[in-house]
Amino acid sequence: MRDFSEAPFLVIWEVTQACDLACRHCRASAQPERHPAELSREEGFALIRQIREFGDPLLVFTGGDPLKRADLFDLLEASVSAGLRTTITPSATPLLTAEAVRRFRKTGVARMAVSLDGADAAQHDGFRGVEGSFRITLAALRAARDCGLETQVNTTVTRRNFDSLNRIAALVRDSEARLWSVFFLVLTGRAQLEDDLSAEEYEQVFEHLYRISLTAPFDIKTTEAQHYRRYVAQRRKAGGATPAGGGRGVIARRAGINDGKGLLFISHTGEIYPSGFLEISAGNVRSVSLMEAYRNSRVFRVLRNGDALGGKCGACEYRNLCGGSRSRAWAITGDFLAPDPRCSYVPAGFAEAGAAPSPSGSRSAAI
Ligand code: SF4
Repeated sequence: MRDFSEAPFLVIWEVTQACDLACRHCRASAQPERHPAELSREEGFALIRQIREFGDPLLVFTGGDPLKRADLFDLLEASVSAGLRTTITPSATPLLTAEAVRRFRKTGVARMAVSLDGADAAQHDGFRGVEGSFRITLAALRAARDCGLETQVNTTVTRRNFDSLNRIAALVRDSEARLWSVFFLVLTGRAQLEDDLSAEEYEQVFEHLYRISLTAPFDIKTTEAQHYRRYVAQRRKAGGATPAGGGRGVIARRAGINDGKGLLFISHTGEIYPSGFLEISAGNVRSVSLMEAYRNSRVFRVLRNGDALGGKCGACEYRNLCGGSRSRAWAITGDFLAPDPRCSYVPAGFAEAGAAPSPSGSRSAAI
C-alpha cells in the first residue's frame, strides 16, 4: 500500500458552491448564486501551481456546479497544461450541453463524472430536486461516449434507492462508463438521518455491489464506505472471485485512501480540508502552503496514523486498508477518530477484550 504522507493521490477542488439543483443530500448545501469570497481566477491558477508541486495527483473540479463559473475552461486548461490529470463533476442542468461535454474533451479533461441517483426520471429527479435532471444526465453520458470522453457515474445510496441498484447498474453499463462510484451518506449539509441505512443494510449493499462487480464491465468503488474494501478482502479470503472491471481507463486507483490520507479537499473559499465531508480546516490556501498543511498539520498527520484510531477501528486488522469513514465518525459522534458508526464488523479479539472506550476523544480534542 502506498505511503501518502508526502503527497495526496487525489485532490478535490470545489471551484464553487453555486448550483441550480437542490439535491436532498447535498454536502455543500449548494445555492444558485456564487459566494463573494470564492477563490478568484488568479487564485485558482496559483492553487493549480501548488497542487502540481505534489507531483501528479489527480485533480477533480467539483462544486456545486463547476459550470456556474465563467472562467471554468481557463482553469481546466491551466490544470491540463500544468500536467495534472484533470477530471470534472458537472451538475446535470441545462448548462451541461453536448457542446460543453465536447469542450471538456477538447480541453484535455481525462474524465467526466455525473450523478445518477435513480433508475428512472421520477426517482432521480425527486432526489435531485429539479425535473429534467435524469434526461440531461443520460444525454451528457451519450455526448461523452460520442466524443470519446471517459466517464464515471456517481450514485448516492440511500433508503430511497437501495432497492434499485440493479437497475441503476444497468444504466451504468449502457452508458459504457469506466467507474461506478457509490457514495454512502455522511450526515452533513442537507443529508437527513431518515435517508441513511443501518450498518447491517450497508453490508447488504456491499454484498449486492460485490455480486454486480463480478460481471460488470466497469469498476466499482465506494465513497465514505471504506469498509467495502474490508468486505471484498473478506470475500477473497474466503475464496471469492475477483471483480471483473479490472481497473481499466486512464485513471488508475489506489488502495488505502481515506480522508486526509491520500485525499485533500479545497473549499470554494480556499479552506484546506481532509475531505469535503470533514470540514476541519488545516488553514486557507490564501495564507498557508498547501503542501505544508497536507504534510504537517496535526489534523492530516493524525488521520494518516492508523494507530490513532479509537475503539474497534483502532483494533481492526483492516484499519490500514479501510480505517472507516472519518467524516461519518465526526458527523455522528463529534470525534473523527471514533469507530465508523455504520460498520458492523467486530475485529477478532475486540469483543473478548471488551469494547474499551475510544482513546481518541482526547486526541481529537487537542487538534
Ligand atoms: S472496524 Fe473500522 S477499520 Fe475495521 S472494517 Fe470496520 S470500519 Fe473498517
